Amino acid sequence: MRLVHVSALIDLNEIGGLAYIRPWGEEGLALGALTRDAALEHDTTAASRLPLLLEASRYVGHPAIRNRSTVGGSIAHADPAAELPALMLALDAEFEVRSRAGSRTIAAKDFFQGYLQTSLQDGEILTELRIPGLPARSGSAFVEFARREGDYALAGVAATLTLGEDGTIAQARLGLCSAGPAPVRAHAAEEALRGQRPGPEAWSAAAAAVIAELKEPPSDIHGSADYRRHLAGVLTERALAISAKRAEGSR
Ligand SMILES: Cc1cc2nc3c(=O)[nH]c(=O)nc-3n(C[C@H](O)[C@H](O)[C@H](O)COP(=O)(O)OP(=O)(O)OC[C@H]3O[C@@H](n4cnc5c(N)ncnc54)[C@H](O)[C@@H]3O)c2cc1C
Repeated sequence: MRLVHVSALIDLNEIGGLAYIRPWGEEGLALGALTRDAALEHDTTAASRLPLLLEASRYVGHPAIRNRSTVGGSIAHADPAAELPALMLALDAEFEVRSRAGSRTIAAKDFFQGYLQTSLQDGEILTELRIPGLPARSGSAFVEFARREGDYALAGVAATLTLGEDGTIAQARLGLCSAGPAPVRAHAAEEALRGQRPGPEAWSAAAAAVIAELKEPPSDIHGSADYRRHLAGVLTERALAISAKRAEGSR
């Protein structure tokens, strides 16, 4: 994109030790930064532990792109239209970064700072993504709308929903792409869902909260800010309805 002019380019591709998918914690996953998006599609550990990751990564470009693109590249690039950053935000992932001075862990909520901006410092590389698993009685879904299959989404929503013993919503998490200068976590909508009975009324209240929460959706030749707000609301309702169905099925 010619956003930076560099005097040296360091190719990480040969660091084979940074390409892996491993179980992490009870039900979570650790992904080496050089894991290709395509590797997620064929990995049985990822499929059984976090099917949402597969569902979302299938929307990344098309197979030729996914064969080359890395999960670390997507996160470090921090494109607000990309699927994985929004997903990592919704899933409360954390990232390990390393430099010659040592390593540190950054929560996804502190990582994405603005348009293509992250909290990575000079000399640091991203080495690992760690994603906690979902609690019992949870369901999740990723839905997006793009003009053509494989295009970046005009809007996309990652949702997780956890039901309490009484069937009400104990926790909901929503991460949105193409909804602002950085991936967006819809906190007000999550709050609005807590304690509610799953159903159309709860979904439309959450959609209204998402629409009110989106302060700076992009506005371009593909869609105005208002159109994207509307789309984000519709996709929120869909993602929550699917998540609830899956959560009920997992009981
Ligand atoms: C035609 C096309 C369609 C696409 N469609 C989509 C789409 O629909 N959805 C989507 O999400 N993405 C899409 N992408 C983006 C693609 O999936 C990759 O995420 C993106 O190109 C980054 O590729 P990469 O992993 O090779 O990283 P690179 O291009 O090598 O790096 C991207 C940036 O991150 C930095 N970086 C990379 N790895 C690290 C690391 N480990 N530590 C620190 N910094 C690092 C680099 O310095 C660079 O600034 C598309 C790309 C193309 C070309």
